[in-house]
Amino acid sequence: MNVKRTIRRIVIHCSAGPASQKASAIRAYHLAPAAKGGRGWKSPGYHYVVEADGRVVVLTGEEHIANGAKGFNSDSIHICYTGGIDASGRPADTRTSAQKRSMKQLVADILYRRGPMPVVGHRDLSPDRNHDGRITPDEWIKQCPCFDVKGELGQ
Ligand SMILES: [Zn+2]
Repeated sequence: MNVKRTIRRIVIHCSAGPASQKASAIRAYHLAPAAKGGRGWKSPGYHYVVEADGRVVVLTGEEHIANGAKGFNSDSIHICYTGGIDASGRPADTRTSAQKRSMKQLVADILYRRGPMPVVGHRDLSPDRNHDGRITPDEWIKQCPCFDVKGELGQ
């Protein structure tokens, strides 16, 4: 079913896996039933996945809701780059220059088509626990996407 959605923000993610990960594997993991080790979701977590070589893979159309950030999905477009952890499994900005380029282009394209809107990182959607109007690192519920999205891609 195609529902006309109002998009209010673009949310950037990392896959929290190896940079060599393929979009098809992420999609399969999201959609596989929990009994088979998947997330058991009806729709994938992201609209777009940017692979290490800069290839942009569409997991679902922008008119559909993707499952990227609980409480923010109905009016968000989710973009994920593969990577986001270092060799020891700690959160790290592992983006290749091809990924940075492709992501920038993709975001610019969406903003051109849809008009200006905020571009934020998943972690920027964490609750503002001390209500100072800013989401600071001590409030992040996760590191995703491991770089300063507003500083780099925000308007
Ligand atoms: Zn995320």
